[in-house]
Amino acid sequence: MSAKILDGNALSGVIQAEVREETTKLINQTGVRPGLAVILVGDNPASQSYVRSKAKKSQSIGFHSEVHTHPATSSQEEVASLVRELNKRDDIHGILIQLPLPKHLNESELVELIDPRKDVDGLHPINIGRLSAGLKAFIPCTPFGIREILLRNGIKTQGAEVVIVGRSNIVGKPMAQLFLQKGDGGDATVTICHSQTRNIAEITRRAEILIAAIGKPLFIKKDMVKPGATVIDVGINRVEDPSTEKGYHLVGDVDFINVKEVAGAITPVPGGVGPMTIAMLLKNTLIAAKRALGIE
Ligand code: NDP
Repeated sequence: MSAKILDGNALSGVIQAEVREETTKLINQTGVRPGLAVILVGDNPASQSYVRSKAKKSQSIGFHSEVHTHPATSSQEEVASLVRELNKRDDIHGILIQLPLPKHLNESELVELIDPRKDVDGLHPINIGRLSAGLKAFIPCTPFGIREILLRNGIKTQGAEVVIVGRSNIVGKPMAQLFLQKGDGGDATVTICHSQTRNIAEITRRAEILIAAIGKPLFIKKDMVKPGATVIDVGINRVEDPSTEKGYHLVGDVDFINVKEVAGAITPVPGGVGPMTIAMLLKNTLIAAKRALGIE
């Protein structure tokens, strides 16, 4: 038996089409065009490519899109004053700081400067707190995308045994909060593993839904997966490959080729969670624009 492949590219396209349609409606009804500003500091090639793709998608959806590029030597105050300026602008509804920032900058201090109503990445402590209290909040894009993959593929979370490997603020922790919410996409029994977890394979083998957000190529092996489980691979790892034009290829945190023989459903890398993350950023920006108008 081979697992059902959960196609993130196709679903991302569906969500982007929905956002495009709602955006056109919003512009026609109110004259307001959702605006997204992305701040990129430094010249990390992966970050540059993510930012290009976010800007391109925002434009194609009908948003106003801005990329603010700053050199790696920028000071904390330079970036902070840009955030403050964007906070004040009525035509900007979403602000995103592309992470990671160069080491000398204080990431959490800059994220905390973003107006929580424009925090479309859902990383401001106010949004984190509101999410864990079950209140209206911006949901971080990657966990939001994973929830959509599960919901729209009819994968039930109610009462399910969920294991998340990875406890980052951007993926693991907010993912756990979503699974703990009451209602659709929630009501699960959640375990989080990390680098200090003992006997990890014993725990992952319990999972009916297994989320891998580790950043270690092919970490999750076939014998760590319960037969029939849904496996969501968040990892994006570059593996050197001189046979390709770029000199590398991408693999996830899951040993896809072998795990798909036991899993019930699985996301590929690339083409699984990655494209969903961008779709949910667009969705969050639309939500931010609507909330600014008092209509969401
Ligand atoms: P972090 O490095 O912030 O977190 C990794 C987590 O994995 C940590 O909690 C760490 O534990 C845990 N971990 C590391 N080694 C082990 C181990 N041997 N056993 C168990 N747990 C371990 O990464 P992110 O959450 O930011 O990202 C994870 C992966 O997902 C990366 O490959 C990243 O590129 C990708 N990613 C993909 C996105 C997408 O859109 N598809 C979006 C965001 C990330 P500890 O806390 O103890 O150190």
